[in-house]
Amino acid sequence: MEPASGTASIEAVHLLTVGPFPRLLAEELTARLSREVGVPCRLLDEAAEIKPQILPERAQVHADDLLRQLEALPIEKGTKLVGVTLLDIAIPIFTFVFGRSRLGGPATLVSLARLKPEFYGMPADPAVTVRRGVAEILHEVGHNLELKHCRNYSCLMYFSHDVETVDLRGLSYCSSCAPLLPAGFLATGRRRF
Ligand SMILES: [Zn+2]
Ligand SMILES: [Zn+2]
Repeated sequence: MEPASGTASIEAVHLLTVGPFPRLLAEELTARLSREVGVPCRLLDEAAEIKPQILPERAQVHADDLLRQLEALPIEKGTKLVGVTLLDIAIPIFTFVFGRSRLGGPATLVSLARLKPEFYGMPADPAVTVRRGVAEILHEVGHNLELKHCRNYSCLMYFSHDVETVDLRGLSYCSSCAPLLPAGFLATGRRRF
């Protein structure tokens, strides 16, 4: 196998719920993510020290503040921490975001608030919510693994700001992005492009 050309490495993905979050949903998300990646995915116990802050004059959580709190947690070397929440998150310049992360950072934040079909007046469908959640997690972890946005609309690293784009994008990194990922990150047989 060709060595990955990126410098990042990853040995595990740990999920941490932030705010009220049904345990079953968190377990489904972790299990679904495990099928997409070649490293172990584990659901951690909630971290009491995480305190979501509300953006001034907005009924939404400050995404970058929350990301900083996640990054400040003790994160094992080689592990990427994924904070998942049902709280609506935003940053001052955007009305909302699905997720936040830093290029090469140790942690990501993903909100399912606007990934749920019921947010758009559609019938609840946990399978759709989980699938979109996994797509957003893979996108944000991709940034942690030093991938930038991609111009291929069917690639996970394509920027999306609506669920239609999330759904069109699918669950695969494109043939330009996938080889930049650390060896072993993608589950065997999942390099579909
Ligand atoms: Zn992005
Ligand atoms: Zn791509």
